[in-house]
Amino acid sequence: MPYTHILVAVDLSEQCHAVMQRAMALAQCSQARLSLVHVIEPLAMAFAADVPMDLSLLQQQQTEQAMQRFRQFAAQYSALRDEDRHLLSGQPRHEIHSLAEQLCCDLIVVGSHGRHGLALLLGSTANELLHGARLDVLAVHLAD
Ligand code: AMP
Repeated sequence: MPYTHILVAVDLSEQCHAVMQRAMALAQCSQARLSLVHVIEPLAMAFAADVPMDLSLLQQQQTEQAMQRFRQFAAQYSALRDEDRHLLSGQPRHEIHSLAEQLCCDLIVVGSHGRHGLALLLGSTANELLHGARLDVLAVHLAD
């Protein structure tokens, strides 16, 4: 059965171009629709309990930076329509699963690891996505 709608999740690191290439190749083979998602992890979710300071300014800067990086990343893939580009905020596993459900995707594509920034503290997204997944999840092997 060919896939009909593939969701590719990127952490906007250099390595995720390899993840994107694999997802695009799969989408082309299956003639599937391809959607792209990046999730901004709110600083408060990781640090609020430990850091006794107002994180709102930092949060705003993080969001603006992520919006710019996401735009630059997505601009390199002109075949992706605007409505297929999703920039969300929250816990990556939760947001990616619920977007996949909302869009009726049948495959999620992620990198085997990324481990940058907050992911270091929160654990591997690829691993978390596999748990409780109601659809196929492909972890594209990335060199260390
Ligand atoms: P990591 O959890 O850092 O080991 O990342 C593994 C893979 O999960 C990355 O290669 C991405 O495909 C995906 N990923 C990690 N963080 C995010 C994020 N914030 N938004 C979307 N996808 C992500």
